[in-house]
Amino acid sequence: MDVCLAGLSMSRHPAHLTPLTTAAAAVGGALLLGLSGWPPRTAGVAYACLVLAALLNSILENRRPTKTDAQSMPLSFVIDFTALLLLGPIMATLVAVVGAVTLTSGHSRTRPACANIGTSVAAIQTAGLAHSTLGGALGYFDWPWHAVSVGAAAMTYCLVRIGSAAIVTPLLTNQPVNLQWSIIALRSSPNYILGASVVVVIVEIINQQAWKLFPVIAVPLFFLYKNYVRYLDRLDREHRGLEVVESLDQGMCFIDVNGQITLWNDALQRILNCPRERALGHPIVVAVPVLGKTEFPRAVAEALLRRTPRTFPNFRLPSSTGALTLQVKILPDVGGVTVLWHDVTEQALAEHRLQRSEERLALMEAGANDGLWEWNLARRELHVSARWRSMVGLPAASANVRPEDWFERVHADDIESLKQAIDAHLSGQTDELRHEHRVRHEDGTYRRFLCHGIAVRGANRRAARIAGSMTDVTEYSDAQEQLRSAGFRDQLTGLWTRAPFVEELGQRLAAFKQRRGGRFAALYIDLDRFKVVNDSLGHQVGDELLVAVSRRLESCLREGDTIARLGGDEFALLLNSLDDEGQANAIAFRIQDALNVPFSIGGREVFTSASIGITFSASQYNNPEEIIRDADSAMYQAKASGKARHEVFDADMRSRALDRLGLENDLRHAVTDTDFEVHYQPIVSLTSGMCVGFEALVRWTRNGVTVAPDKFIPVAEELGLIEPLGTWVLREACRTFADWQRRFPQNKLECITVNVSTRQLMQQNFLHIVEQAVHEARMTPADLRLEITETTLMGSPFVAADALRQLQDFGVKIYLDDFGTGYSSLSHLHKLPVDALKIDRSFVRSLLLPDRPAIVESILALARTLDTGVVAEGVESDVQARELERLGCRHAQGYYFSPPLSREAAEELLASHRRLGDRGPSTRSRAIETQTEVFFSSAPFEWPDDANPDGAPGAGPRPRGRGDSHGGRVPPASTAA
Ligand code: C2E
Ligand code: CA
Repeated sequence: MDVCLAGLSMSRHPAHLTPLTTAAAAVGGALLLGLSGWPPRTAGVAYACLVLAALLNSILENRRPTKTDAQSMPLSFVIDFTALLLLGPIMATLVAVVGAVTLTSGHSRTRPACANIGTSVAAIQTAGLAHSTLGGALGYFDWPWHAVSVGAAAMTYCLVRIGSAAIVTPLLTNQPVNLQWSIIALRSSPNYILGASVVVVIVEIINQQAWKLFPVIAVPLFFLYKNYVRYLDRLDREHRGLEVVESLDQGMCFIDVNGQITLWNDALQRILNCPRERALGHPIVVAVPVLGKTEFPRAVAEALLRRTPRTFPNFRLPSSTGALTLQVKILPDVGGVTVLWHDVTEQALAEHRLQRSEERLALMEAGANDGLWEWNLARRELHVSARWRSMVGLPAASANVRPEDWFERVHADDIESLKQAIDAHLSGQTDELRHEHRVRHEDGTYRRFLCHGIAVRGANRRAARIAGSMTDVTEYSDAQEQLRSAGFRDQLTGLWTRAPFVEELGQRLAAFKQRRGGRFAALYIDLDRFKVVNDSLGHQVGDELLVAVSRRLESCLREGDTIARLGGDEFALLLNSLDDEGQANAIAFRIQDALNVPFSIGGREVFTSASIGITFSASQYNNPEEIIRDADSAMYQAKASGKARHEVFDADMRSRALDRLGLENDLRHAVTDTDFEVHYQPIVSLTSGMCVGFEALVRWTRNGVTVAPDKFIPVAEELGLIEPLGTWVLREACRTFADWQRRFPQNKLECITVNVSTRQLMQQNFLHIVEQAVHEARMTPADLRLEITETTLMGSPFVAADALRQLQDFGVKIYLDDFGTGYSSLSHLHKLPVDALKIDRSFVRSLLLPDRPAIVESILALARTLDTGVVAEGVESDVQARELERLGCRHAQGYYFSPPLSREAAEELLASHRRLGDRGPSTRSRAIETQTEVFFSSAPFEWPDDANPDGAPGAGPRPRGRGDSHGGRVPPASTAA
C-alpha cells in the first residue's frame, strides 16, 4: 500500500482523442488479422470483438482515476480475460494490444508506453498458457473443473503484470526496481480473482446464450463497476494523501483510539530519529521512550477523550544531537489523533540568538554612558538610543529623530567640519568617522560630543548605513581647558600668558595666509617708567597698577580681539579683524587716552603711559614669533622717540632690533673678556679751577665704534651683567686713583666717584666688594664716592638705606646722582644717608634760560640746610661755571673743564697740574653769553685768588669738604660763599 508502482501510473488521456484512437486501434488490429489470414470464417466476429474491446477499454479506463495503486486490478483485465476465455490467446493478445494502445495513445513518453503494451501482452500470453496447460476450455466454464485453470490464469496474469511493472518498466525508465512486487501481487490477487469471476459469468451467459439474463446481470455488474471505480478512487486519494504526507517537511503520525501508531511519515522518522518499522503498531512512548517523560502522552490521551486540539508551540525534547525544539499540534481525527511535528529548533535558536542579542544590545545601550546612533542613508532615518536622547535633553521615549534634528543642533562653527568628516568617511577617505563638536542641549547650552562612526558598505563599496556612538566630553574638555588656562592665564591680571597668545596669533596668521581670514594687527605695549613706579612705590603698588592697566586695556578692545600679558609690564593685543590700518592707529590712541587718566592706587595717584609698537598681517611672516618680534621693535622705536606714543613697524626697525640682539651677544663677550676701559672726567673746584677728583665712566668700543654707556648700561642691567662689570670698574678706578695719588701728590687729589647701579647695591656682598677694592688699592675709604640714583633709594628705601649706611660706616661717601630728575620727595632727603648731591646737567643748562625756574638755587639752599655737599654736572661754559660759583656751588664737572679722559690723557693732565676751563670765553660759550648777557651782568669770569693761575700741580685750592669738620662732606655752598 505504501509503494507506488511507477509503471502502473497512467495519465488520463485526453477525451477528444478517444474515438480516434479507438478507431485506429480497431482498424490496426483488423489489418493485422487480415494480413495473418486468420480466421476468415470468424473475421466478422473478430472485428466486432476488437472494436468492442477497444471501445470498452476506452470507456472503462477513461473513467478511471489517473493514479492507481499496484493492488488495484486494471479494468482492462476483465476485457482481456474475457477475450482469452472466449476467443483464445491470440485474439486475447490482439484485444490486449488494442486496449493497451488505446490507453497509452497520447502518452508523451514512448518508453513507458511500450513497456505497458509489452506488459499487457506478456501477461495475457502467460495467462493463456497457464489456462490451456491446466485444461481450461474456450467459450464455456465447467464448474468446478475449470476453476483451477481460470484461477491459475488470473493469478499468472496478476503476477506477470505486477512483476513486469515492478521490474521491467522501472529498468526501462531508469527508476528504482521494487523488490516487494511479490507481496504486492499476493495482496492484489483477490481483486483479480473477483475480476476473473465476473468474466466467467459473462462467458457462461454467452455460452448458454442466456441473453435474457443479461439485463439482470448488467445492473449488478454496473454497480459492481461503479463500486470498484469508487474503491479505486479512494485508493488513489489515499495514495495521493500519503504522497503528500510523505513529501511534507513536517513530521506526521496518526495514533488510533487504542494508542497505536498507524502512520509515521518520512519527516517524522528524521525528526524523532525513529524508523517507521519501530513506530507502526506501537504506542508512541514505546517508539520514542523520551516522550514518556513529557506531558505529550497525557495531552494525546486528553485529545482522544475530549476531542479538543492541543498545541505545544515550544516542545523541548532532548536528543543525541542536542535539544530539539518542536512545534507539536495534536488534532483529533476520525478514529484517533493526527499529530503534526514541526522541527523549529533552528528557528528557535535563531530567535533565541536574536532575542539575546537584542537584550544584550538593549542592556549595553542602557548601561552605556555613550549615546548610540544609526543613520540609514537611503531612507534618511536616524535611530538613536535613549541615552543619546537624554544627552541632548530629549525625553527618552520620544519619536525617532531625523538626521536634520542632529545637524540642526550642531554649533554653527562646527557643522562644516562635521559634514566634511562625514563626507570623507562615506567616500572612503577615512577608515572611521571621528569628530568632536558642540551640540545644543534642550536647555539651550552647548555640550561637547566626541562622535565615532563606521559606515556599512554594499557590494559596490557604497555606504548604505553609518552607525556609531556619541560621547559627552564636555566636562573632560572643560577640565582640560581649565588645566590649560591655569597655565595659560596670568595669575596676577587674569589675562592670557604668552604661550596661548602666540598660538592664537599663529592660527590667525595661518588663516590669513590661506585667505580664510582678513587683515589683522598685533600691538606690543610696554609701560613707560614702570620700573620707576615699581622701584619707588614698591611692588605692591606696581602689581596693582598692572591689574588696573589690564582692565583699562581690555576696555579698549573690540569684540573678537585678544589681549595677553607677555611678562613684566609688557602686553600684547591681537586686533583680529581690520578694515584698514587706521583702525589699529585709532585703538592705539584710545589706549594712550585711557592710560592718561591717573590711576588711584592705595590712596595715591599714579601716572603711567605706554609705548606701543604695531605690526600688520603680511604673508611674508612665517610664524607668530616674527610678528611679535617686529611689534616689539616698533615699541622700542616708540620708546626711543620719547615714550607715550606708538609706532608702526618698518624694515629699519627690524635692523635696529637685530642690532640689539648683536649688542647683547657682544656685551656678554666683552664682560667675559673685560673688554672695557675706564675714562675719567675731572671734578673741578670752581674757586681754583683745579682738578680735585674724577668721575670714573666706563667705555666700550664695539667693532671699533664707541658705544655710549646710556645704550649698553641698561642692557647690562637687564642681562644681569652689571654686577661683574661694575665690580671691575670699581676695582679699576680705585687702583688707578690710588696710583695717581701716589704718583701725582702735588695735585692733592681728593676723590674718585664711581657710578653704582641699583642691582649692584642690592648685591648681598656689595660692601665686601667695596672693602676689597679699597684695600686692594690701598686707598683711604673716604676718597671713594659712590654715585647712586634717586630711584635706587626710592625702590627699596630701607634695604638701600641700610646698605648705604654700612658703606658710610666703612668710610666711603655717597653721592646722589642726577638729583632733581627722579621722584624723590625733597622732604625725605634729610633721612637719607647721602653726603652730596649732583645737580643734573639739565638744570645746569637751564641756568642760561630766561625765566628759568630757581631749581638750582633751591637745590643749593636745600644742600646748605641739610649740610650736604653739591657737585654740578654738565657745565659747558664759563658763564655756567661763574653762575654756579656765584650761587655758592663749589665743585663742578663738564665739557667746559674737560670731557672724560682716557687714563693716559688724565695722567697727562695731572702731570701738567694746570687750571681747567677757558680763561677767555670760547666760541660756543661766547654765543651763549651773548644771549644771556642781560641776566649775567657781572664781570667776565675770573678765577679766584686761591686758584693756581699757572696751573702748577698742588697749587689748587683744597676743597674744604675733605677731612674737615663736616665729616668729609663737601662744605655747603653757604659756608664757601
Ligand atoms: P652720569 O652718571 O650722569 O654721567 C655723566 C655723563 O655726562 C657722562 O656720560 C659724561 O660723559 C656726560 N657729560 C659730562 N660732561 C658733560 C657735558 O658738559 N655735557 C654733556 N652733555 N654731557 C656731559 P657718559 O659717560 O656717556 O655716561 C652716561 C651715563 O652712564 C652716566 O651718567 C652713568 O649714569 C652711566 N655710567 C657711566 N659709567 C658707568 C659705570 O661705570 N657704572 C654705572 N653703573 N653707570 C655708568
Ligand atoms: Ca654720575
